Amino acid sequence: MKYCCHCRTELTLTIPPGDNRQRHVCPQCDTVFYQNPKIVAGTLPVHRSDSGLQILLCKRAIEPRCGYWTLPAGFMENGESTEQAALRETREEANAEVELQQLLSMISVPHIDQVHLFYLANLPQPQFSAGEESLEVELFQEQDIPWEDIAFPTVAKTLRYFFQHQNTPAQLSRCFNSTIELSEALRKLEQAQQS
Ligand code: ZN
Repeated sequence: MKYCCHCRTELTLTIPPGDNRQRHVCPQCDTVFYQNPKIVAGTLPVHRSDSGLQILLCKRAIEPRCGYWTLPAGFMENGESTEQAALRETREEANAEVELQQLLSMISVPHIDQVHLFYLANLPQPQFSAGEESLEVELFQEQDIPWEDIAFPTVAKTLRYFFQHQNTPAQLSRCFNSTIELSEALRKLEQAQQS
């Protein structure tokens, strides 16, 4: 952020009166431009059939982490609820209609100023296809989850939490609340780059 979007004056970095940290401030019209974390909302779609339980994953067609598998998720839009964002992202990335259940995980990612939320969701029909931002969309049984090729640590954590607690609904109904440390994210990225 370099220029004021109201008067186009170059912004300065300063601590506004009554504040305790540096902000981008317009010296002309005194507007303070606050920058706060962004919320990513998504689903963990579960399809149950005679052959057991399967999870819907999308292979990313865009950077970052193009070619890696993820749960359908994306940045919230203004004017949306977290539930609406999760449903919209599931439609956009997987062309799938799901029924939202409880909030499954809420994970802070402070080094990139994001919070990731995933809802448990029921996928009644195995109907889906790759949206604009996906190369492929597929159902996976637990033993077939491509753990080495999961795009983001928050997705891996959410999947692991689900499989650990899927048979204990009381535990699963409590939202998994966690933080991804920078060291953890870097380690995951290095492993991915080496393989
Ligand atoms: Zn201004």
